[in-house]
Amino acid sequence: MHPAPIDGEVLSSWLHRIAACYSTDLNLLGDDIGFTLGRSAPDDIDVAPPHGMIDVLTERTGVTPDRLRQMSVAGWVPWLLDTLEPVPDGFDTYTRQLSVLRPGGKQKTREVPWWRPWLLSPRLPSRACPDCVAATPSPQPYLLLWAIPIVSSCPVHGCWLEDTLAARGRFTVWEFDPPTPRPAPGHILTLDQRTHDAFAAGHVELPRRRVHAGIWFRLLRTIIDELSCPLSENRKAVSDLIRQIWAEAGYRARDGQSLWYPYEQQPEMVQRHTMEAAATAVMLLENSAITGSGSDAALFLPSPHSVISDGTPPPPPSPKIGERPSLRVAFNAAVEAARINHAEARTLFDLATYKRNGADDIHGVVNAFIELGIPLDFHHASSIANLCNTQNK
Ligand SMILES: [Zn+2]
Repeated sequence: MHPAPIDGEVLSSWLHRIAACYSTDLNLLGDDIGFTLGRSAPDDIDVAPPHGMIDVLTERTGVTPDRLRQMSVAGWVPWLLDTLEPVPDGFDTYTRQLSVLRPGGKQKTREVPWWRPWLLSPRLPSRACPDCVAATPSPQPYLLLWAIPIVSSCPVHGCWLEDTLAARGRFTVWEFDPPTPRPAPGHILTLDQRTHDAFAAGHVELPRRRVHAGIWFRLLRTIIDELSCPLSENRKAVSDLIRQIWAEAGYRARDGQSLWYPYEQQPEMVQRHTMEAAATAVMLLENSAITGSGSDAALFLPSPHSVISDGTPPPPPSPKIGERPSLRVAFNAAVEAARINHAEARTLFDLATYKRNGADDIHGVVNAFIELGIPLDFHHASSIANLCNTQNK
């Protein structure tokens, strides 16, 4: 008998809870299923489980491989990260393809060796929601999102995440002295709710359009980059806008940092202030209090008023008898069909990614789908690991 994983739980937490049922620990449990785990076992497992571990766990517990993969960071490639291994131009590829506050294509190229989005090296942070922890019996589950500095609050309970003051997934200090939950402001909760939605549903609802989780993670990291870059790299109107956002957030521009470091290498407090500034930027864009110069800023504008139809799509132009449709007409018809039919969207996606193996290729197709207004929700979370496997073969 073993406890079932809860939604969003990280793999080491679930294994820790199983081990507790047998009065053993994570390393002994690892030995039992044929894996020698080291001192950094929780971090290793939660970033990427050892090869073969998922299959053994599925065999022993009956939990599907898809679900188990999503319990570690590796299961979120290529959406949260392009690749698990750092690549030389990874920073620019991830943070410079979209643009919100600054005009696109004008940024200084940055090479950041060993960079991976959102991940700290060598360990993951140890934060949790005091109310979520208080609501569960010991040993309390630990969520994957608490270990990634892409959220800073719990949208369910409306409070900031707090340092657990103990190894990740352990709450011994909190059992003696639980932290008092501190309410988080609305714009932070809105931002974090969207990131939760991206992980839970595979997409995020923005005012103008539903965007795929992979786009949401990059949009957010792009805004963070735009707020963090030296102001001298921007023309005056853009640097004034960035100063205004930081001031509205209540901090000095770039949180007073004189040297540039990527978000992932910033001190924890600077990270938190930067994420607050990003949430402020999104709030101001959505209130039309500021205007972004980037090509993706329009995603945060209110929905345009449009003529309400009865929902019947206009018929595609049909070729005359004996005339073959031109490639453009055929393409337009396929796009129209994919916009309203999940199966057609899936077919078009499979066609577009046929024999294209690289993360850049896949993101190119995802971007094209966004541009064309084709919903990507046929790729909901449960199929992400499958796609990843298929593409990596
Ligand atoms: Zn909570």
